[in-house]
Amino acid sequence: MSALLDEKLEPIFRDVLHRNAGETEFHQAVHEVLETLGPVLVKYPEFADKKIIQRICEPERQIIFRVPWQDDKGEIHINRAFRVEFNSALGPYKGGMRFHPSVYLGIIKFLGFEQIFKNALTGLPIGGGKGGSDFDPKGKSDDEVMRFCQSLITELYRHIGEYTDVPAGDIGVGSREIGYMFGQYKRITNRYESGVFTGKGLDWGGSRARTEATGYGTVYFTQEMLKAQGDDMEGKRVLVSGSGNVAIYAIEKAHDLGATVVACSDSSGFVLDEKGIDLETLKRIKEVERQRISNYLEYHPHAKYISGGSIWSVPCDIALPCATQNELNGSDAKMLVQNGCIAVAEGANMPTTPEGVQVFQAANLRYGPGKAANAGGVATSALEMQQNASRDSWTSEYTQRRLREIMVDIHTSCYETASEFGCEGNYVMGANITGFIKVARAMTAMGV
Ligand code: GLU
Repeated sequence: MSALLDEKLEPIFRDVLHRNAGETEFHQAVHEVLETLGPVLVKYPEFADKKIIQRICEPERQIIFRVPWQDDKGEIHINRAFRVEFNSALGPYKGGMRFHPSVYLGIIKFLGFEQIFKNALTGLPIGGGKGGSDFDPKGKSDDEVMRFCQSLITELYRHIGEYTDVPAGDIGVGSREIGYMFGQYKRITNRYESGVFTGKGLDWGGSRARTEATGYGTVYFTQEMLKAQGDDMEGKRVLVSGSGNVAIYAIEKAHDLGATVVACSDSSGFVLDEKGIDLETLKRIKEVERQRISNYLEYHPHAKYISGGSIWSVPCDIALPCATQNELNGSDAKMLVQNGCIAVAEGANMPTTPEGVQVFQAANLRYGPGKAANAGGVATSALEMQQNASRDSWTSEYTQRRLREIMVDIHTSCYETASEFGCEGNYVMGANITGFIKVARAMTAMGV
């Protein structure tokens, strides 16, 4: 962990460590929030009196369950799944489901904890939650994924609902998986309750622009950080890690705004294309063929594929980590700073390690943490819930305009809060404090 904690916050953090032994990602996420809350407790002593921080750090409910399923050969497999219903002060629990072999309780808790503040920042009525499983969708057939999703919902259905808990996608969960989960929910409950999941297909209650929203939103946030400095995206050289949904649409929007994304990656390596990553090729490889990005060279032999190396060693103006947690460490951050990077915005959740964050802050570059910079995805999920509740379907233009406005508002509130607390341009302080105060006020109003 990086900075030392305030004397009031230190015992709270020690208690979190003690109660959640071994959950290192969760510890990291909590520490990163607590280290910014000292000045808030000075300004609002009632939050300390009401033990708001201690209450926020403990999930309201944690569900852990078994998911048995049969593969195509008839063999039975058992996975473990989780849903952490973290905080419902602002609305129904809201957050994605992640299917990845690395998933365990600590990952879901870190994601759920982040989600509380991120969702608060959107200004929309959604609480924080997250779920997932250690199931690995890679290499599984469509039928196997379907049977797994159905089995998962056979347990989870009783815990979710449009007014209680609304799951969506995350790593390993896209509209195919949402379809299988929603279908099973509908079958078991005999209710066409569209608002119980977001990230649905456009034909069955999904929102336009939801697929693009996280990536677009991250670029809008970057644009706002640059604008605050009198700069813009035009002509900028950009790195985008990852090659999933968030990365693809971050690349698309960066190109729309006149920047050139020269590299993207997957867990095996990265592609460098000085002419700019060709989005059609990337979409074909990832969305249709479901292949590795090394295949990019088959279509564009002039590009380079670097197996294993760090994408952050490539000189750039702007870095957008859009892959996964802790993908950018202290030495990556130093390379970026040395190579003249001026802005970093996180499309993924907690992609920068505490050491990396320290490097960025010491270098005084514009650093937009995930809670703020990737909130466009969940914000558009909340817009999907609005459309479902009113049995309406908005145009792409209108939905995108709302997304853009929300990202601008998030930037403004983070920027203003940071200035109010005497740390202008510090978006970590701005995001944590703004999100925290919203949730804390609601919790205080609702009593113990
Ligand atoms: N998984 C996304 C996130 O990290 C989206 C969650 C949602 O739409 O509920 O914010």
